Amino acid sequence: MTTDSHLILDLDGTIADDRRRLPLIDHSSLDPWRAYHEDCANDPVINRGLFQGFPGKLLIFTSRPRYVWDATVAWLECNRIPAAEMWMRENDCRMSSPDLKAYMWYQCREKLGIDERHVEMAFDDRLDVIRMWRYMGIAATHITCPGGGGSYDERVSH
Ligand SMILES: [Mg+2]
Repeated sequence: MTTDSHLILDLDGTIADDRRRLPLIDHSSLDPWRAYHEDCANDPVINRGLFQGFPGKLLIFTSRPRYVWDATVAWLECNRIPAAEMWMRENDCRMSSPDLKAYMWYQCREKLGIDERHVEMAFDDRLDVIRMWRYMGIAATHITCPGGGGSYDERVSH
């Protein structure tokens, strides 16, 4: 592991405890996820051990929409999570999370001039995203939120 190494981190359900916000998802609404996302600033940090002390760079790949960019940056700073880069979902994007994060990865590769050899591990709470990382040749670990009563990989997301 070197300073040229990178970790890919998901936020919700991986290092941000979003359980308090889950009831805000309202499928009867025109924008079911809006209230859930807009309340992201106060999540407790979970699984800090995944990245604390890592000598390389932290890359955030999140399905959160861009309209919570500022709230998310503030959360990272407030919680002393030194993200080197962050990719978010465009506000009008309806891609599945695995497709979205694969697309982000292609953007990331180009921007940073890295490939899968420079990624130590990807962490995500969705098994479909984990499968995508492994398909891409990136080691990936499935995270379950402590106390959450199981994994969130089956929950409906974008
Ligand atoms: Mg997640």
